[in-house]
Amino acid sequence: MTAATTIPNSLRTLPDERGHFGQFGGRYVAETLMPLILDLEREYRAAKEDPAFQAEFDGLMTHYVGRPSPLYFAERLTGYYRKRAKPGHCAKIYFKREELNHTGAHKINNCIGQILLAIRMGKTRIIAETGAGQHGVATATVCARFGLPCTIFMGAKDIERQQPNVFRMKLLGAEVRPVTSGSQSLKDAMNEALRDWVATVENTFYIIGTAAGPHPYPELVRDFQSVIGKEAREQILTAEGRLPDLLIAAVGGGSNAIGLFHPFLDDPDVAMLGIEAAGHGIESGEHAASLTGGRPGILHGNKTYLLQDEDGQITEAHSISAGLDYPGIGPEHSWLHESGRVQYLPITDRQALDAFQLCCQQEGIIPALESSHALAALEAKAQEMRDDQIIIVNVSGRGDKDIYTVAEALGAQI
Ligand SMILES: *Cc1c(COP(=O)(O)O)cnc(C)c1O
Repeated sequence: MTAATTIPNSLRTLPDERGHFGQFGGRYVAETLMPLILDLEREYRAAKEDPAFQAEFDGLMTHYVGRPSPLYFAERLTGYYRKRAKPGHCAKIYFKREELNHTGAHKINNCIGQILLAIRMGKTRIIAETGAGQHGVATATVCARFGLPCTIFMGAKDIERQQPNVFRMKLLGAEVRPVTSGSQSLKDAMNEALRDWVATVENTFYIIGTAAGPHPYPELVRDFQSVIGKEAREQILTAEGRLPDLLIAAVGGGSNAIGLFHPFLDDPDVAMLGIEAAGHGIESGEHAASLTGGRPGILHGNKTYLLQDEDGQITEAHSISAGLDYPGIGPEHSWLHESGRVQYLPITDRQALDAFQLCCQQEGIIPALESSHALAALEAKAQEMRDDQIIIVNVSGRGDKDIYTVAEALGAQI
């Protein structure tokens, strides 16, 4: 018997009970993992209804993470674009400042939520995957905070490229386990973490770093990150007395973007733009734009848009920004893309680098290269809007981690 589901006229009620966002999502996992995934889902539903869980999450957000993060009017950047726009044009630009969070990005929001779930489930060991090391550092941070041992799976190639983050994780007490299979990067680290999990489900909790993976991960990561959009909504109503006209966020797996977008999905007058990393350009084949340059397939437990060759082999992603360097995207974004509710736009390494420098010079804020992709979209978008319109850009992280990459790209010696 198929359960009769009510057709939602809200865009905020998905996934359905089997984890689907339209044709995307689901849970394509090894049979041994199924009981654990169901356990996790049951526990998550219970936690959601438990005021004590919410209170603990909120308390940590306030006192450990430093929330709410400010919503900041980027006055000089707005002025810069206005000088170049037609009279009466260029929207007012606000930054949602996730870069001011503890550990310097939005990832901590999700890690706090998931470790509270792990503790609630009585798990005594944490595992996670990491690419550039940002999610690894956020995970190692919450593990130190709660006194749980953790193992971070990281591609051997990434370990070489990201020494400072590897050392940070070690300082925080994590074991960093090199993954030497496949392309020795993020995709392989995630495979390896899933493999470890199958063997250790009894005592181990897997903290996934973005709004992807098997159901219920895309949903719970989104819910924990929705603190971004909920705050932004209240803050813009206080500042301007109305909702914004456009939201912009960079999309790797899609967690900071869905966190900002989700609380606004049912507001038809709020447009949304997700920015994919176009690397050296879509035509070059060296990019990380899963929606623009990929097609649907199955990876890491869910159906979604993926970069793949003719044989369905997952291809390697490229972006100057390590956090956007993932060959997939969360399933909810695939659905929002196909339904047309959210627009997705590719931005190249070069455009992101220019936006990075402009933000430093105009606002005195060094943004992450990931966030710089979102900022780069302002050049085209802000100027075509009227000057009584409002844009909120999610500044997902700070750029201190990126200065070596930027120096190299600009040919500077440091
Ligand atoms: C990891 C990361 C991203 C990309 O991840 P999402 O899940 O798409 O948000 C974006 N910005 C920063 C600063 C990151 O560290």
